Amino acid sequence: MSKEVLYSSTRGDKGCIKASQAILRGLAPDGGLYVPDHIPHLEKTLGEISGLSYQETAYEVMKLLLTDYTEEELKYCISHAYDSKFDTEEIAPLSEAGGAYFLELYHGATIAFKDMALSILPYLMTTAAKKNSIQNEIVILTATSGDTGKAALAGFAEVPGTRIIVFYPKHGVSPIQEQQMVTQKGQNTCVIGIEGNFDDAQTGVKKIFTDPELAKYMDSKGFQFSSANSINIGRLVPQIVYYVYSYGKLLKEGRIAEGDPINVVVPTGNFGNILAAYYAGKMGVPIAKFICASNSNKVLFDFFKTGEYDRNREFVLTSSPSMDILISSNLERLIYHIAGDSSETDAKYMKELADNGKYEITPAMREQLKNFYGGYATEEETYKTIADLFNNASYLIDTHTSVAAAVYNKYKEETGDKTVTVIASTASPYKFTRSVMNALSKGDDNKDDFALADELCALSGVAIPDAVTSIRNAEIRHKTVVEKTEMESAVKSFLGI
Ligand SMILES: *Cc1c(COP(=O)(O)O)cnc(C)c1O
Repeated sequence: MSKEVLYSSTRGDKGCIKASQAILRGLAPDGGLYVPDHIPHLEKTLGEISGLSYQETAYEVMKLLLTDYTEEELKYCISHAYDSKFDTEEIAPLSEAGGAYFLELYHGATIAFKDMALSILPYLMTTAAKKNSIQNEIVILTATSGDTGKAALAGFAEVPGTRIIVFYPKHGVSPIQEQQMVTQKGQNTCVIGIEGNFDDAQTGVKKIFTDPELAKYMDSKGFQFSSANSINIGRLVPQIVYYVYSYGKLLKEGRIAEGDPINVVVPTGNFGNILAAYYAGKMGVPIAKFICASNSNKVLFDFFKTGEYDRNREFVLTSSPSMDILISSNLERLIYHIAGDSSETDAKYMKELADNGKYEITPAMREQLKNFYGGYATEEETYKTIADLFNNASYLIDTHTSVAAAVYNKYKEETGDKTVTVIASTASPYKFTRSVMNALSKGDDNKDDFALADELCALSGVAIPDAVTSIRNAEIRHKTVVEKTEMESAVKSFLGI
């Protein structure tokens, strides 16, 4: 048995809570994010892991970080999450194309990588509620740049003891993303558009979370908040699994020898996915370079280049909307770690970010980011990379994955690095059909996204996922749009309090 892992806020004192409690709370009361007090090393060798299924790998990873869950509880959560909701038994297949390995994380119910964690979060959450004798109904508050919302809705719909409220930027998601959300069924679900961007949605949600008066009022009415965003540690831990799994797969297929380093490239927005890769590295996966790929909202590229994080810039709407973010919440966890697990330092930077929109880390902290490489891709580069891969390698990718692939191409050119590389493939091309068709010069403004999906299918031979066909003629159930200042009253109105 390894030592219990406890969680504390990135901003507060070391008052430690158990994993299940951190998952229930989502965000710490001081506005910080929960972080583990240590990161355990994998118990099995990488060779042993290469023989495991996705579910078995999930257990090996999650038991080490969610230490207050019993074996029976974790295995129950895992087997119910990673089942036939995924359209492949492998759960996260690895496809070689164009000189890299694409780790396809979009085979779940809502065809984006958010399903990897949000398929299991409801099970982890309801198990946590039971373990901690919670009587209140849990209200999941979620800000989405397009994909988290639907994945969270699908996961929490009709889950007893929970309600879920999703805020999305009314003018900042793809038509398919919006249709997926507004057609969501389930009495406990609520979807609200806001007149603002993702950062507004996320800031509003964090504000609601950290209002102590509101928390008291909610409690008196039998409710408490939690989060399905990657600020919740229950989102991050399941995301570590697929990096461990992909290393095992490469090993099993003889692409690498045990212990060989690999690089990972992650199309990044809120910094959750790449932080999971960083944790996988700490747990013993030999990852040489963490390549952080941004779109034109390249605040992270600038940060890795200069050490200064500066959100004071124009917010750009791109063809990779799930990465249209200027405040990458999970970077806070990395900042905390590279400051030597210092909540004092972290709190100071986060205050500067809130007050002035920027902060600059010390040279000693920058020194610890040597394994990170920041890159970005323009819209033109993103489109070109989709077309090149399709035309030269018959492999179809979405716009987000293309940002990563484009950045990887630039990285290779710049460094000549030949290390075996895994690119996180974060969405099905059918989630962003119009942009993908535009990239292939087959766009048509007179056709809707579903008609374009039919054409993309004919062109590529890649089947249209159920997630798209099933919403084509579905009833629109959610029509509310509010100003960003009205989020709290919208929450109260849905809860009837
Ligand atoms: C959420 C999302 C991202 C960004 O992931 P982060 O964990 O927020 O960095 C990238 N691509 C797609 C398709 C997404 O849905």
